[in-house]
Order: sequence, then structure tokens, then C-alpha cells
Amino acid sequence: MKVVTTIAEVRAAVAEARARGDAVSFVPTMGALHDGHLSLVDAARRLGRYVVMSVFVNPLQFGPNEDLAKYPRDLEGDVERALSRGTSIVFAPSVDEIYGRDRATEIRPLQIAEEWEGASRTGHFAGVLTVVAKLFNIVQPDFAVFGQKDLQQACLIQAMARDLDFSLKVVVEPTVRDSDGLALSSRNQFLSARERKSALALPRALTKVRAAHRAGVRKVAELEHVAEEILSAEQGIELDYLAVVDTRTFKRVRTVAGNAAVIAAIRVGTTRLIDNELLEP
Ligand code: AMP
Repeated sequence: MKVVTTIAEVRAAVAEARARGDAVSFVPTMGALHDGHLSLVDAARRLGRYVVMSVFVNPLQFGPNEDLAKYPRDLEGDVERALSRGTSIVFAPSVDEIYGRDRATEIRPLQIAEEWEGASRTGHFAGVLTVVAKLFNIVQPDFAVFGQKDLQQACLIQAMARDLDFSLKVVVEPTVRDSDGLALSSRNQFLSARERKSALALPRALTKVRAAHRAGVRKVAELEHVAEEILSAEQGIELDYLAVVDTRTFKRVRTVAGNAAVIAAIRVGTTRLIDNELLEP
């Protein structure tokens, strides 16, 4: 069976793969698959022969005023795209299968989650970590693959796996972009042509910051100014946050020393977009 909906079925399939001696890699998603998700499948295949993808729109990570009902869903198309890219099995559980019993536990993140996406979206990361921990325990993979597109999330998951002693390796893969530079996102489909044009200021600004960093600029105020100039010149967007942060703590720094990133979120019409660039030493 290539598509399963119960915990028992996916566990049985993984057990069979393991009995054959296959390493197991895991790609958690909320569906509406695009090339960014599929690039994670490519990475997963390089890591382990048996690739499990989950497709689950996790209600726990949506706030009361967020787009849970509007979140794009296309399980049939997702299954076809995932399998044709080399996914071994798609796990698409119902909300009841994952949260059917009364719940007495959740995973609550500490420092890394305090600001940025964590501040803009109350409870979001507790919802993400709770479902990811559950999925890790259900699938028990050797590798789990996440996208740099959601950098704060990826760093939190790496920290959780370490802190809670999950015996798997969390791998983070680069952001896949459209030819115009916009990071692929299932939310891009909500942008009008005009909004999309405005949204391009985001990758343009972040790329400029990376270039300034590569040219030797280390003062964060200066780096942030480079991006702010580009973003404030664009009429159609509203800046939610822009910051240069240390990727271990997700706190803003004054000077870039070790591993850092420039992270940003904007609103274009009713659509909220996030993006980032790593500023590596
Ligand atoms: P989502 O379905 O949006 O929860 O995303 C599932 C996984 O795909 C997460 O690890 C995301 O970071 C990753 N992802 C989303 N967009 C991209 C992208 N443009 N490039 C690479 N990975 C992505």
C-alpha cells in the first residue's frame, strides 16, 4: 500500500522496510506539495532508501485568526506528486487519528521560539513541535528532512530532537525558489499578479543583505538598513519583522560573529510571506 491513514499501517510498513535492511527517512508536510517539498524528497532518498512522507494539516499550529479552513488541500494530487518523485509511502492521517484521544501533553519550546514567528503566531511552535514529536515517535525514522524556508522552525526541531534525545538526524535543506526569486510556498497561490510583483522585494532585500555580509559588513544595523531601504520603497507590502539573528538562539545580534541569518516576514494584501538567507562565517 502506497497511501495509509492509520498509525498502525505506517508503523507496519516501516517495520517491513527495516526488516529488509533499509534506512528510513521522513519528510513531514501539510500537503499542497510544490517543488520545495519535492526537493526534500530528493534529499530524503539520498539519506535512506525508504522514504515516508506525511501529509497532515495540523490544526494545533494554526491560531484562531489564521487560515486553517482556507489552507489548500489536494491529497490526490499530493500523493501522485510524492510517489512519482520516489516517496515510498504517504501517511495521510485524519485529525482524529492524531488527536482523537484526550491530550494531557504538549511540547512547549523555550528561547528560540520567543520572537519572530513565535511572537507573531501565538502557540504556533508548540503546535508544530507537538505534532512533529508525535510523528517522529510514530514513524521512528533515521533521518527527518526539513526546509530552510522555515528556518526558525527547522532550528527549533533540531533543538527538540537534541533536547529530548530522539535518535534520528534532523537534516535541513536549502530553500527552493521560482525563477523570479520568490521562495516557493503553498500560500503564493493567493497572490495576484500585482501582489506577486510587490512580494519580490522580499527575496531582493534578503539577497542584498547576504551580498553586503559577503562584502564584509558585520554591523547588524547596517545590514538591516540595506533590506529596509528596499522593502520600504515597495508600496504594496507591509513589513511584519526583519532582523539579523544568531541561528542558535534566534536573538537579534549587534554584530555578526558566528552563524547568523537575516529573517523577515511581510504581508502582501491578506497573504503573509516569510523568507530568510543564511549569513555564514
Ligand atoms: P509545510 O507543508 O509548509 O509545512 O512544509 C513542509 C516542509 O517543506 C517544511 O520542512 C518546509 O520548511 C519545507 N518547505 C516549504 N517551502 C519550501 C521551499 N520553498 N523550499 C524548501 N523547502 C520548503
